[in-house]
Amino acid sequence: MQKKSRHRFIILCFLFLLFYAMLLLIKPFVYEKAGKEIQPIFISWADLSNFMFKKPFLYNLPETYSEEIFKQEVQRQATHFPHSFFLEKADAKQKWIALTFDDSPDDWYCPQILGILEKYKVKATFFLIANRLKKYKQNAIDIKEKGHLIGNHSYSHQKYSFMTMDEMQKDIDSAEIAFREQIQFRPTIFRPPYGMITDEQIVALSERKYKVINWSIDTYDWDNKRNTPLEIFTRVEQYAHSGAIVLMHSSGKDREYTIQALPSIIKSLKDRGFQFVTIDEMLTN
Ligand SMILES: [Zn+2]
Repeated sequence: MQKKSRHRFIILCFLFLLFYAMLLLIKPFVYEKAGKEIQPIFISWADLSNFMFKKPFLYNLPETYSEEIFKQEVQRQATHFPHSFFLEKADAKQKWIALTFDDSPDDWYCPQILGILEKYKVKATFFLIANRLKKYKQNAIDIKEKGHLIGNHSYSHQKYSFMTMDEMQKDIDSAEIAFREQIQFRPTIFRPPYGMITDEQIVALSERKYKVINWSIDTYDWDNKRNTPLEIFTRVEQYAHSGAIVLMHSSGKDREYTIQALPSIIKSLKDRGFQFVTIDEMLTN
């Protein structure tokens, strides 16, 4: 190594160590502000940016963020906003179930899922990320033309619970423009990215004529620690009930396992007498 580049390398190492020391120094303040216990060695970028930009935290979650707490929170919201926030159709009169797919459009996984749904004559609901509509317009048109329901899954796919109301409204505005320009459609259902949304945002969306739709069965197809086709299938099999809304993904990451699990899920639910409905069919009947 030449003398000059060795110097540069040492300076870079020094700057990195300085930055890391600074992070460690401010860590207690970040976590205190977030209402979290100090456990991790690193500060997550989300926590750091929230600390720096003073964005509100949705939930005062402990660092050992648990799905239980998330579930309690969304159950509270469903009870508190019975006409605008849904985990499922609690009083479904028939043996209905709604399959929902997030994070499309795309040009590889979603077309395969559309093919499976067509083969088994199943209608589903797709929550689309609006900033993908221009690039994958044809897939979005196909979803619509094949008779599936399209929902709004935000423009930017950021956590709404970390956004100010103004940022949220702008994100919805951009999404609506993209839906209108690309597929001439205005969704009336909305699924928050990661399912996280504040009460105030539910009210604002309701004023914009959106129903907020989360889910009552999570297949965990998004979690590669527990998403083999058999695990995905078993979860639906085990928890299927009338009025359930099933969370799956048709894009975003590798969806091979979702695609492999889907035919058996459909066949098994059909054998058990379930009817597949879209979210609007489920909620308006
Ligand atoms: Zn998503």
